[in-house]
Amino acid sequence: MTSIRPKTTWHKERAETILRALETTVARGLKSEDAIEKLRLIGPNEIAATEDASLGQSLLHQLSNFMILLLIVAAIISGIIGDVIDTIAIVTIVVLNAAIGVFQEYRAQRAIAALRKMSALSSRVIRDGKKVQLAAADIVPGDIVLIEAGEVVPADMRLTETTSLEIDESALTGESLPVTKQVESLDLDDAVIADYLNMAFKSTQVTRGHATGVVVATGRATEIGRIADLLQSRPSALSPLQMKLERLGRRIGLAVILICTVIFTAGLLQGQPGLLMFLTALSLAVAAVPEALPAVVTMSLGLGARHLSKLNALVRRLPAVETLGSVTYICADKTGTLTENRMKLGAIYFDSHQHTELAALGNGDASRRMAEVMALCNDVEDESEVLKGEPTEVALFEAARTAGFEKRVLQRTMPRIAELPFESERRYMLTVHETESGALALVKGAPERVIGNCIDQLTAGRRSPLDPDLLDVAEEMAASGYRVLALAYRDKLTPTDVTSEASLESNWTFIGLVGLSDQPRPEAYRAIEQCKLAGIVPIMITGDHPATANYIAARLGISDKRTDTVTGAELQGLTDKELESRVEKIRVYARVDAEAKIRIVRALQKAGHFVAMTGDGVNDAPALKHASIGVAMGQRGTEVAREAADLVLLDDNFATIVAAIHEGRRIFDDIRKFVKYALTTNSGEIWLLFLAPFFGLPVPLLPLHLLWINLITDGLPGLALSVEPAESNVMRRPPRAPDESIFAHGMGVHIVWVGFMIGSFTLATEAWALHRELPHWQTIVFTTIVIFQLFHCLAIRS
Ligand code: ATP
Repeated sequence: MTSIRPKTTWHKERAETILRALETTVARGLKSEDAIEKLRLIGPNEIAATEDASLGQSLLHQLSNFMILLLIVAAIISGIIGDVIDTIAIVTIVVLNAAIGVFQEYRAQRAIAALRKMSALSSRVIRDGKKVQLAAADIVPGDIVLIEAGEVVPADMRLTETTSLEIDESALTGESLPVTKQVESLDLDDAVIADYLNMAFKSTQVTRGHATGVVVATGRATEIGRIADLLQSRPSALSPLQMKLERLGRRIGLAVILICTVIFTAGLLQGQPGLLMFLTALSLAVAAVPEALPAVVTMSLGLGARHLSKLNALVRRLPAVETLGSVTYICADKTGTLTENRMKLGAIYFDSHQHTELAALGNGDASRRMAEVMALCNDVEDESEVLKGEPTEVALFEAARTAGFEKRVLQRTMPRIAELPFESERRYMLTVHETESGALALVKGAPERVIGNCIDQLTAGRRSPLDPDLLDVAEEMAASGYRVLALAYRDKLTPTDVTSEASLESNWTFIGLVGLSDQPRPEAYRAIEQCKLAGIVPIMITGDHPATANYIAARLGISDKRTDTVTGAELQGLTDKELESRVEKIRVYARVDAEAKIRIVRALQKAGHFVAMTGDGVNDAPALKHASIGVAMGQRGTEVAREAADLVLLDDNFATIVAAIHEGRRIFDDIRKFVKYALTTNSGEIWLLFLAPFFGLPVPLLPLHLLWINLITDGLPGLALSVEPAESNVMRRPPRAPDESIFAHGMGVHIVWVGFMIGSFTLATEAWALHRELPHWQTIVFTTIVIFQLFHCLAIRS
């Protein structure tokens, strides 16, 4: 794909020239009215999602089935030479049937469209000089857009300002290494997209930094829009079940046509009128070929997805609804998914002592330094009443404030001049502040990382040798369930120290430890209980300390004495083979990064498991794509993670995954019930008409009867089955194997056998009625088969 050449020359221009050409400025953006007018003219910023069929198209599609057309033509011909009323009735039934089909399709489409809307991307745009949040579809050329790590670029833009911006352009170029972007104009003539370093392209993913840019192309005019045009075809969105049913439908269709030919020939040989036999055989074929099955599945999945969204689980790919029921492992992040992500300071350690009282802060040098780190070394925004920031940092910020250390006040005398931001790989955060006695670095982070960089410690106001037991103290704190952070500092930094990362990273002085408590979500206990009953294994994956992770996992019932805990470092020491042999015993993965998640998914899948994996960060995206069901967080998650996922949890809650699995199992059960019911009744009708000539009986049912049965007693109760409530044991049985046939558990036998019973009993009634010379024998046959089918429907319900 790299060979595709961009058609724009925007990269050659200076940013100012482009802004002028598009009549916009970085500070004010477009005027809202102008932007809305532009949107009306050029259309939304979308790469035409698959067009929904119009009502007329949909009706035409339903009627264009070859056999239905044949039936209508045959009915009309028979009407011309015989009974017009019959013809009108047949055509009416066929059209009615098609109308019901259209209605189902329409409902499913509406449900899916609503879901699509809910998962639409949004962007921060400058309009009328103000920062606003806009749906990506409403963006027009000339808009000034802000992008940052974790977001998906909403349109093609020329960058006007970047801060360590890196973008993953693999969607466009196939190259998976992120590209570092710049602002300067480029003089390239014969370049490929990957060379356009001063542009950001729609649908690519920001992996690092942030930037501002001016939109130069939207919708189909973007580079990705052109590729979509070139490729034209879209991958089929059919679920595995739908594909199986379509194949099955075709095979049954062939068989039915064969049987109908036999019935037609047998009738002729018996001396029945040719036209009647032809119509009968045709009606039976129309009634018995399950051409509606894939459509019913689509409807069930669509409605199921809508129901799931009410349970706070947003389905991004429809087939996921069906496969949810097969999940055997749920790999969940700890913080925020299994726990509440509301941190509270619960333990403090400094001056070689554990303190539980927050009031202990404020006396002596160590506690003062500690409070400074807690107040200053964070990215908490305290402009409004509600603090905005990471729960870990907010907890420390608040504890410092309670002890009288206010970030805003401290910052006046100690402004921040440099920083090393917190990253999962680095596992600590460092800020540099200007003070009267020179530059001061404040550090907080994972104990093993921080203590590893310390050369001494602060005790009773003095620097003394580093206590070798500090890591044990941290371990002990973690074993009580606390997320433990170590705090450190380094003073009297020279200007060269400040600019060198290597220098900033060394010669720290240890101050103390803090323990933050984060309670398990109350719903998680029950959800985990349910998982176990349902044969699903819950797994915890966390960046936290193994002792913290184990404490929470044990409390929630995820792990016990017989299960294993593995750390990221241990994981790296295992080969893929070794991991595969152990993976089923491991319940907790601690201190792991996003890359480990892919290995865990792969190993579980190799062992034959169907894995749901949660994630929120940019680096979680590959694991989400790999997982059988990728689950992204709606609140904490990045857009990139959400784009990669099959399911988005609107409430970030573990219990919601379990609820979704419950729903997935119900939907699959109901689809099975529908298929079972529809095919058994069809089989009953076929047996009836097939057997009649062998016993020398006349054709049991007229075409009109058959079509009526097909529409009313087949269609409507069948629809009702597809919204049945869940069986009471739905979460008390093991997961269904993903490749299990829909006919598993004796369904094939049921269809043939019960169909045979219905057919032969009805036939017996016919023989009896004819023997008694009852004038309404056909009415009796009709009523008998209808009642049989309704009872059968009730029998299938649960
Ligand atoms: P989970 O995987 O359960 O969601 P997590 O992703 O929150 O956990 P990380 O954010 O990777 O885990 O944190 C790993 C470790 O890094 C923590 O145990 C803590 O010691 C340290 N840490 C977390 N947040 C910060 C922060 N804002 N500043 C400094 N260190 C931090």
